Amino acid sequence: MTEGATQPHAGKREKPRRVTILGSTGSVGCNTVELLEAEPDAYRVEALAAYRNADLLAAQARRLGARLAVVADDTQYPALKAALAGSGIEAAAGAAALVEAAARPSDWVMAAIVGAAGLAPTMEAVRRGAMVAFANKEVMVCAGALVTAEARRCGAQLLPVDSEHNAIFQVFAFEQRAAIERIMLTASGGPFLKRTLAEMEDVTPEQAVAHPNWRMGAKISVDSATMMNKGLEVIEAHHLFELASAQLEIVVHPQSVVHGLVYYSDGSVLAQLGSPDMRTPIANTLGWPERIAAPSPRLDLAKLAQLTFEAPDPERFPALRLARAALEAGGAAACVLNAANEVAVASFLDRRIGFLDIVATVERTLEALPDRRIDRLEDVYEIDGEARAVARRVIGNGLRTGPRPGA
Ligand code: NDP
Repeated sequence: MTEGATQPHAGKREKPRRVTILGSTGSVGCNTVELLEAEPDAYRVEALAAYRNADLLAAQARRLGARLAVVADDTQYPALKAALAGSGIEAAAGAAALVEAAARPSDWVMAAIVGAAGLAPTMEAVRRGAMVAFANKEVMVCAGALVTAEARRCGAQLLPVDSEHNAIFQVFAFEQRAAIERIMLTASGGPFLKRTLAEMEDVTPEQAVAHPNWRMGAKISVDSATMMNKGLEVIEAHHLFELASAQLEIVVHPQSVVHGLVYYSDGSVLAQLGSPDMRTPIANTLGWPERIAAPSPRLDLAKLAQLTFEAPDPERFPALRLARAALEAGGAAACVLNAANEVAVASFLDRRIGFLDIVATVERTLEALPDRRIDRLEDVYEIDGEARAVARRVIGNGLRTGPRPGA
């Protein structure tokens, strides 16, 4: 059997583990920093990277004794340099420095930049055969086949961080792959699970980012509200676990306690449970292949009393249908879907379009662009750029499906 990119193949853990965090100032990044700080002797921090939050980045770098800190936005270089003065920590800025952070010799890289902006540094970590804790799902959606092929070629171990994929990873018997019929990802349903489409028309960014179970960055919170997040996750799972669309199911589970399930041919279903706290899946990848402690609240099933499950509603959440169609179309469709969604979510957060316009923008962008093949990374950059331009045009032309929130 050929080894898949996600299939475990690492040897015994070295100590201290050398680690790098791409996106250290975000929600996943800060949770990762917290876990590192709890066990300072177990890790040596090679590099931390962020977009423009120089103050928080510098504070993290000082606390963790990082060797290098990078801001992708080079206008923030003076602020970073000043904040690190006298610390002996190297400061750098710009796109090339971001890739350099990923290229530094660490054993484990947390890929937690949001969006396709994480593609180049994440690929760099994959190319040098690192263990890559994969939170940045947009990278897997826009370039999944290239990333997994490169991981296989370079011996990189991909460790899924998304709670659902991490759950599957924990109960997926790679050596019994032939006996796996399908997997199921759970979805909380987000803050608008019970709303009609008409009731979703004028929701505000503040309402959309107020997730009932998880505290996350703004982009993924909006994706959860449209359920595009689950659509992206289905595509991500296709690449990580090498399963066909028909083997990837979604069930709505508002409590977010059961994160993922694997169905076996003998009728057994293995699931992973845990409180909705990203420190658990992050710790699972940080310690891998061993288990380390995480301070997440322990599950009290008697207190929870009830776990409920229901089928998702593709009428009210058309993002699910679009993402599934993009996966099945193959080629460039998922890359277009992702780029258009990034543009539309940013526009919604800026109050330039309404909530329902997000998915409408994605749909129109997909319709406007012909199907193409993706053979090389350059194809991804080109298609991503074109899709962003089309999505901006679609928005500029005005597609309002409802009143502008908060206007
Ligand atoms: P946040 O928005 O909280 O953080 C994003 C991080 O990426 C920040 O460190 C930000 O830096 C950095 N960043 C943003 N743009 C760029 C750029 N152009 N170049 C370099 N760095 C950049 O996001 P989350 O932590 O919520 O999510 C990160 C990824 O993990 C996403 O792909 C998300 O889908 C995924 N994920 C998140 C989960 C969660 O619980 N939050 C759960 C599962 C998956 P700065 O602070 O300077 O802007």
